[in-house]
Amino acid sequence: MTSFFRGSVQSTPFQQAIEKVTDENQQEEDWGTIMKICDHVAVHEESAKEAMKVIRKRLQFNQAPTQWRSIGLTLTLLEALTKNCGKVFHVQLAQKDFLKEFRDILLPKNNPPTAIQDKVLGMIQTWALAFRDDPDLKNVEQFYQECKQQGIQFPPADPENIIKAAVPATRTIERPARSTSQTGNGVAARDNRAGIGGASHLPGSEHTVLRQMTPEQIAKLRSELDVVQTNAQVFGEMLIILQPGEEHPQDLEFLVELHKTCKQMQARIIDLLSQISIDDITVDLLRYNDEFNNSFKTFESYMEERERRVGPSHIPIANRTTSPTKSSLPISQSSTTKTSSLSRSQDNEPALIKFDEEPAMLSAGVDNLHIHPSSPDAASKNTQQQSTAAVTTRAASNTQDPERDVKEVEQWLNIQDSKDANKNSNPQGGTTAAFNDFIQKRASTIPDEVDTEEKDYRDQNKHKHICLFALPPLLLLRSIEISERIISPFSCINCLSTSRKRCHKTVAFIGYGNQGRAQALNLRDSGVNNIVIGNIDDDYAKQAREDGFDPVSIEEAVRQGNVLMLLIPDEDQQTVWNEKIRQNIKSNTTLVVASGYNVAFNLLDLPDDMDVVMVAPRMIGAGVRDRYVQNIPYPCFVSVEKDASGTALATCLSIARAIGATRGNGAVGSSCREEAGIDLFAEQALWPEIMAIFREGYNVLHEAGFSDEAILFDMYLSKEPAEIFERAADEGFVKQLKYHSRTSQYGQLSTMNRHDGNEIREKFRRVLNDNILSGNFAKKWSDTKWAAEELAKEWKEVEKAPIVQADQRVRDVLKPDRKK
Ligand code: NDP
Repeated sequence: MTSFFRGSVQSTPFQQAIEKVTDENQQEEDWGTIMKICDHVAVHEESAKEAMKVIRKRLQFNQAPTQWRSIGLTLTLLEALTKNCGKVFHVQLAQKDFLKEFRDILLPKNNPPTAIQDKVLGMIQTWALAFRDDPDLKNVEQFYQECKQQGIQFPPADPENIIKAAVPATRTIERPARSTSQTGNGVAARDNRAGIGGASHLPGSEHTVLRQMTPEQIAKLRSELDVVQTNAQVFGEMLIILQPGEEHPQDLEFLVELHKTCKQMQARIIDLLSQISIDDITVDLLRYNDEFNNSFKTFESYMEERERRVGPSHIPIANRTTSPTKSSLPISQSSTTKTSSLSRSQDNEPALIKFDEEPAMLSAGVDNLHIHPSSPDAASKNTQQQSTAAVTTRAASNTQDPERDVKEVEQWLNIQDSKDANKNSNPQGGTTAAFNDFIQKRASTIPDEVDTEEKDYRDQNKHKHICLFALPPLLLLRSIEISERIISPFSCINCLSTSRKRCHKTVAFIGYGNQGRAQALNLRDSGVNNIVIGNIDDDYAKQAREDGFDPVSIEEAVRQGNVLMLLIPDEDQQTVWNEKIRQNIKSNTTLVVASGYNVAFNLLDLPDDMDVVMVAPRMIGAGVRDRYVQNIPYPCFVSVEKDASGTALATCLSIARAIGATRGNGAVGSSCREEAGIDLFAEQALWPEIMAIFREGYNVLHEAGFSDEAILFDMYLSKEPAEIFERAADEGFVKQLKYHSRTSQYGQLSTMNRHDGNEIREKFRRVLNDNILSGNFAKKWSDTKWAAEELAKEWKEVEKAPIVQADQRVRDVLKPDRKK
């Protein structure tokens, strides 16, 4: 697949380097380039913004399953920049827009793999906790809290012991340098260490604390840590790449083995933490510990998910003697590593991490972890690169020349581009099943039953209003064909947080007609008592009073409402909005429309702080009410059109649920544009064509001497077409033909199959594009005087049609529509 940026004449060499390391065709994490990028950002403030710009583009999910590879690589780069570039980059992370986009990776419609979900959540949490004392970066902590209130589940955090290490030096120095003079780091590291190290110590080492090491010892330790880093990296990559339950058996075996190895490595690191008091080494140890913790959480989720999909399975861990050359794992190049160095010291220097003593599994396992066959040279080079990567707290050294680095990157890219041109992509991505699993997982965090606290609250407030948002929004359609387009919340600030008791919202109905009455009654029966009806004092208001409401003027209802249900005819909405609604809207309200028309064509002047959602029942008002009462599902389209508060989806789904529109399989995620477009298309293309066909059918048969009664009964008076459409809805558009005679089946199928449809298709396209989507119709139709006159003219015209006159004659004689 072509890279998003490749070929863009505007990309600078620096941008190209970022594009390169985050390209989905990139087979391995290119730590050499990543660290050059970090070095460049650390010394060029402007480049932090530039880097962020490219990263944000990379993180915009375009529904291509292969993009998860690119997103995974982008997350790696983000982590490296965060750890290495200090505040100059942290301020970029703290931008609200970025944070929101970052969180949106998790949207159910994107169907992110579990490993990506966990990574994103972990990163948000880490940043929040690491930046929380810096006033300039407060946004991140606030955003994190908001996410939590919205019900997003983060991994359990242990801020004091873990998080600081992940973003070292954020608070104390802006650009961390690998130097023992970094006392800020040192303090943080020592503070952290107590918790991480716990009571675990190497035997016999309890009282030995190393405050100084020889250069050889440090070199040795670093080389061992490189191996740790490599194993952690391979482990993390496997969790991103593999799909639970779909792995090659050897990959699974390897993953489990690697998990054990990494666990043992972590135990050693914790021991080492209690033995070494050298600032920068401690910081690295803490970081590895943190990375392991994150990976282990991901591993647990992975295995749970696996068990859920394929059931518990025995995973034999053999002492591997041959490399898994049949492995299906495509990430292997990144993982080429000299792990054997762990178990067999190449020199006489005792290993500080002492992996050679134990665990046994490590030497048996990692000795042969050549996921990808690679030459020793390549392995060594790769290990060196990753060693560079492991130095995540370093800044640009004095000997580094960022300009030169960028040139090198540029040259390197030129070479690599030609090499990579034919590389296969590494398709990743979720399946519909994975999507549904994700939905279910998120859904399981939403209480379906009212909890005790909620119940108490309701009981106490029986005769006061009950907050609409006490109703948890429920999850939604899971029809396989359309599941990608189903919206469901993974959070609801109003329903899931303890703050729900403070949520006192008034729902104002503008209009008490077909939909207004049905929806108001349904909401009230769902426990929403704080409802106000806005209508002039006429028959509609009288009906509202009979139903137990106390109607007020539209203006007054708007003044009271936090949620405005705009349920008057579409063609009147703009005028009423301008004259009675706009100037009375409170701050932070939500507009709910039942049809997309006025929003899709921008006919309403919307306040900036207003949320706009669509809850559009595919049902007449009487049906909305009857079905609610009889507990029969009906379909509904929902969408969020404007999300000023960040909670519009929760509001939208709460409303949909409260009017009974999610009782079947949920609601269909759509948009105002789609709803209005299809509706107008049906009105201006489909049905006129059907009516014209009936009209011409009558004309031809009438000319041929057939009687009006027989023609009309056969065409529609018998209600046979209604029956056919009902069967089509119930059993299938074509499958309903089985209820017709064989002669009828042949007649219909043979003719329709040979109808090329070219002419009508062209006509429909013109109607859709030129009249509907262009907004031409909406513009004309907004002129209500013109609209009324034109509609009257059309009525006059249709009265002249022979079929209409025949219809009247037959009715007068036979009264076919007389109800029993
Ligand atoms: P109705 O025609 O039933 O609306 C009647 C209500 O609108 C009455 O309260 C009426 O009050 C009020 N109203 C009408 N004209 C005005 C005006 N100029 N100023 C103020 N109030 C006015 O509408 P529906 O319920 O059919 O439709 C409402 C919304 O629901 C629309 O957006 C529609 O597209 C959508 N919808 C409708 C469906 C349906 O089957 N009907 C299905 C799905 C969505 P009064 O006359 O007393 O002023």
